[in-house]
Amino acid sequence: MISILDLFRIGIGPSSSHTVGPMRIARRFVRHLHSDGKLDHVAQLRVSLQGSLALTGVGHGSVEAVILGLLGEHPSRIDPNAIPGLLAKVSSTQLLPLPHGPTIGFEPKRDILLDAHVMPELHPNGMLLQAFDASGALVSKETYYSTGGGFYASEKQLRSPVPNDTISAISEAVYAYASGAELLQLCERENKAIAEIVLANEDEIRSRADTIAGLDAIVTAMLGCIDRGLHTPGILPGGLNVRRRAPEVYNRLVDGVGNNEAERLLDWLNVFALAVNEENAAGGRVVTAPTNGAAGIVPAVLKHYACAEDKGPEVARQFLLTAGGVALLYKMRASISGAEMGCQGEVGVACSIAAAGLAAIWGGSPTQVASAAEIGMEHNLGLTCDPVGGLVQIPCIERNALGAVKAVNAARLALHSTERPKVSLDQVIETMRQTGIDMSSRYKETSQGGLAVNVIAC
Ligand code: SF4
Repeated sequence: MISILDLFRIGIGPSSSHTVGPMRIARRFVRHLHSDGKLDHVAQLRVSLQGSLALTGVGHGSVEAVILGLLGEHPSRIDPNAIPGLLAKVSSTQLLPLPHGPTIGFEPKRDILLDAHVMPELHPNGMLLQAFDASGALVSKETYYSTGGGFYASEKQLRSPVPNDTISAISEAVYAYASGAELLQLCERENKAIAEIVLANEDEIRSRADTIAGLDAIVTAMLGCIDRGLHTPGILPGGLNVRRRAPEVYNRLVDGVGNNEAERLLDWLNVFALAVNEENAAGGRVVTAPTNGAAGIVPAVLKHYACAEDKGPEVARQFLLTAGGVALLYKMRASISGAEMGCQGEVGVACSIAAAGLAAIWGGSPTQVASAAEIGMEHNLGLTCDPVGGLVQIPCIERNALGAVKAVNAARLALHSTERPKVSLDQVIETMRQTGIDMSSRYKETSQGGLAVNVIAC
């Protein structure tokens, strides 16, 4: 089982699969060269971005992420404000100082290849990394796949009989579960809420205090992201000239002119989600929830319903533990990668897990929480990924606002339900998986179909 602290990963925008994952992979490659005693022999590095990473890598900042990873930077620790300076230095000097190793010549256009013609068989987000010595002989070569949400896997991991891309796994979870049905059985048998089951499992990999600190850090990062988004006007990078709308909507809301309560509820959810996804599109600090493209839904619902001043920190923790526990099911049984599942695997999953978290803090039973998660996904099935210009802006930013509102409604519907749901959470997850497999690759983070070909990116 995977830790939920790996699902809610503090990183940078604009994409968990195309920015955070490639950055971590590049960093790992250099660290492996160092630990294998090969780094001092390296005179040239070459990185091939393949499949979806190549097709939307420019708009998703994948090339820049690879450079940062090769420099040894980590997505959770890098200062987003320092990124332009680091990249400009590599570009102007055409030199790359490898951490704990030599400084090598490096030309991003020559050394990072966008191999869109290569569609990897194992996963659509492939990365081939090669290191050469001064004579041009191969020193090392590794292939990795960025599998969504900042996770990655080696070729060996994905080829194993039980494919596995977990970084820190709970090998012996007290309450191991591999399906929604098993999770609900555990809740019933132990007379515990989903959040309690998940927290007990987290105890297997770190102390309770560290898990609580990790959850609180996630909440702080999510709220900080909203706050920056609400107060940062301007035009988003990438050339689409998309204006950041959150500050304007926020100011109108604060002024409180002319809105009734129902309108204001929607406006608050919308503006929190817009704030996060505009920060994400600008390359700012965000939390994968469970991906960057869908990073606005969980924080918007969390801030509006779990972080009011009269609520203690336990409410937000319960929300995240429940949402994370359900997200694990999507990760284990299907995928949270837009390149594999389309947007149903990103915004759909975020809507589903936010609905689960909300139903839990509103006092829903485990069955109602699972039902909220099911409804949140059921009405996102078939959602395609077709970002205009390969940027995580249109439709992604507004789609998060819509997802946040839908999550609240899913929780309401579930809490009013008195019958056993006709569709189970496991059934909807499996339906999402099958739909994702059937979906044309044009609608899976390649920008080759949908809005991406009908809206002129200028
Ligand atoms: S359309 Fe959805 S899946 Fe695709 S990049 Fe945007 S948020 Fe991610």
